[in-house]
Order: sequence, then C-alpha cells, then structure tokens
Amino acid sequence: MDEIGWYQKRNDRSLRYAGRVLPQDRSILLRLSPEYGARFDGQVAILVATNLLARMTPCIAFDVPEVDLVAPLPWTGTTLRQRLIEVTSAADPSAVPEFRAARDHDYILYLGQEASVATVHGSGWNAYVGTGASPLPVSGTTNPIGPSLAATTAIARLFALQMGAMDGPHLLNAFDWQSKPVRDERTPPFDLSPRLGSLWVVGLGSVGTAVLYFLTLLTRRFAATLFDMDFVKVENLDRSPIFTALDAHSRLSKVDATELYLQAVGVKRVAKEGEPLDQSQIWFAREAGTPDLLISAANERNVRYIIEKSTPPLQIYGTTGANWEASVIRHIPLVDACSCCLFPPDTPQAATVCATETFAQPAMGESVDAALPFLSFAAGLMAAAEILKAGLSGYPFTSNRTTLYTHPTVSPRFISTPVGQREACLCGSRNAAISRRMIEGTKYQSLSANGVTSKLRATAQ
Ligand SMILES: [Zn+2]
Repeated sequence: MDEIGWYQKRNDRSLRYAGRVLPQDRSILLRLSPEYGARFDGQVAILVATNLLARMTPCIAFDVPEVDLVAPLPWTGTTLRQRLIEVTSAADPSAVPEFRAARDHDYILYLGQEASVATVHGSGWNAYVGTGASPLPVSGTTNPIGPSLAATTAIARLFALQMGAMDGPHLLNAFDWQSKPVRDERTPPFDLSPRLGSLWVVGLGSVGTAVLYFLTLLTRRFAATLFDMDFVKVENLDRSPIFTALDAHSRLSKVDATELYLQAVGVKRVAKEGEPLDQSQIWFAREAGTPDLLISAANERNVRYIIEKSTPPLQIYGTTGANWEASVIRHIPLVDACSCCLFPPDTPQAATVCATETFAQPAMGESVDAALPFLSFAAGLMAAAEILKAGLSGYPFTSNRTTLYTHPTVSPRFISTPVGQREACLCGSRNAAISRRMIEGTKYQSLSANGVTSKLRATAQ
C-alpha cells in the first residue's frame, strides 16, 4: 500500500463521520512548559496529546524540554523526547516529528499553566483549555485523568474550530463531571499504584483499548482477560491509542496486539479469548467472584444480553455517539439499571445505533462503525476515570451515565443523565440472592451492599 492509500484508509472513519480531517499541511506545535514537563501530569498531557494528534495529522512539531519520564508512567528510563518519537512513529510511520522552536503558521498548543493563545492544562481530576492562564490548582496527586482530559478536549476543540483561534475558557473536572474544578481536599486520594483486581475486557475496539491505555498511565497492577475476534486494520489506527501501524501491517489479532501493549508496559497477567462471547469457554466457565470488573465495550452479537443473562459484576464502559459525544456508563449490580435497560436485546440494531454512528457503505454492501479520534479517546478516558474512582471510599459520586459533548456549536461540557430501569427488562426478574452469590468476593462487592433496586427487592422477598 502506498502512502496516499494508507492515509486514505487511516482517515476513512473521520471522513465518513465529519467529512473532513485536520489540514494535513499545517503543523501543530506542542510546546511544553519546563515546569509542567518535569511533572507527571505535564508528561501525561503531552504523551496523550501526541498519541491522539499523531493519529490525525502527520504534521506535528515539538518544543519540549529535555527531561526523563517520571514514575508512575510505564516508560521510565526513557527520555520524554525519545518516547514522543516512539509514540508518533508507532501511530504513523511516515510522520517525521520535528523538535524545534515555533514558526509562523504553526498552530501552537501550549501545555502548561501560563497564559497563551491556546493553553492546555490538566492536574488531578481537573482540565482547562482556553486562552490566558490556567486557574487550576496544581494537584499533589499522581492522577493521569485531568491532564489526559485537557489534552483530549483541546484537540477536540481544535478540530471543531477547524484550527481557528482557540476559544474558551473550558473547565472540566472528571471527578463529579462538573464544569468547574474540584480541589484535592474534596476527593479521596488514590493509592500510589492502585490495584484494580481482575478486569475482563469484552471488545477491543477503540474504546476498549483506550480504557486500558489510560489505566496503564497510572497502574499496571491488574490482571486482564481480553475478548475480541477481530484483527487490527489501518482503519482502526486513528481511534485506538494502543494499536500501531505495525500491528495492522502484520494483521495481528486485536487480542494479540493488546497483549503486546500490556506486556510492554508491565502488566504481567494477560489472558486472551479470540472466540465471540456466545461461544467462549472462558465466559461460560466464569465462576462466582470472577472477574472483579467487566469493561463491556462491544455491541455486536447481542453481547449485552449474553452478559446480563449471566449476572455480571460491576460494569463500566464508554460509548461514542452520532453527535460528537462520548459517554461513560456504569452498572452496579443490584443498584443501577442493567445494560439491557439501555440497549434492549429485542432490537439488536438499537445497541449499535445508540453506541456509535453506523454509516452505510452501499458500494460494498456493508455498514461500518465510525467515530472521531478524540471521541474514542474521551470515552475510554471517562471509563478509566470511573474505574479508578470505583476503588475510592464514598463511590459512586455521580449518576450512572455521563456524556461529554464536543460538537462545534457547543462548549465542551459534561451532562449526567441517569439510566433508569426499563419496564420488563430481564434484570427486573433477576434473583438478588444469585446476584449476590455471583459477585461475592469481588473487589467491588460492597458497592452492591446498600441498595437494591425496587423490582429486585420485590423478587428477593
Ligand atoms: Zn435491565
């Protein structure tokens, strides 16, 4: 495949979704403040911005200090500049990242607190994008979420504005999904390297892999079981933060490519399933107390119905939508509505249409899922945030669904809209005792201790 053909495939989904990609002839310069760049949060911000931008344009330049990566990032022992080259070339082998000062016509994103025409700053749970100086408090925690949110939101806004002058200010926090910052004192702290337990990831599309990517920026202390039957294609490279051009060239399966990433960053226990869930021996042999958490990021083959039929543990996942939005959804057993309340199984198409825009491709007689690169990153990031919060005392802090809106006509903002229990859903006739037995011993079992939805309570009596 020649370079032009490769970019056509790589950009295919953005073109279907928005009818355009970033201008491929104007450089975006990421300038990192030396003070911010010496810190974990600043390094997270530029790594995420680079990973996302490298999947959208080959024209990236860096004005960054010469620093080593700091813990708890997984690539310590590498310099930041070296890692930025690796991230860029893994996503796009034809890109030639430049390290240089700004030039006329560059679009400059300034990563740091100080005033600029496009300031990007995230720390703790908070994110700021806009002109002028960031008003955010500098967090004393090692939290990758705020800086990742700032980087993702900035690039979403840059794309929405078609690289026009940055607007704002845009303030977001990923702790309680508000448009104002939250202070460290109001949020329970993380362990330095939190243990997440056993995670089963059903669906390794862009969102499923993005969840894992954002989690691994902070911790590798979890066991992952990966379910997916698909191969990595060039068309997947614009939206997954972990798939590489080499994965696509080698026609690696998504479970193999994801395992390679997880092993490279230091996740020691990884298991794989290449069969669909409805034929998976691992799934049907699932024992009570396993897994601790289910990241259900797939829609096909009535997968949510299969999951709900087997009384699953805590589920957290992200979805992308047709109007430039990304959502995080949570199902706490016996407390929240289930995933079939949201995606009814008797209309299997509804799941796909709700989760991501489906575009007809008449010439080939098939339909394909599409989303913009930053939407998949945002959905994965929001789910990762919710997973990290699930281990904190006092969880949950918000309702079971929150959506980030990034459409050009609105300011980037979160809106939480709870998912309620659906009439006649299978969870309404679920036996609470069986549910309790299936989640007994899981890390997040106590979340189900206090609340039982009214229909489930009636069933239990
Ligand atoms: Zn339900």
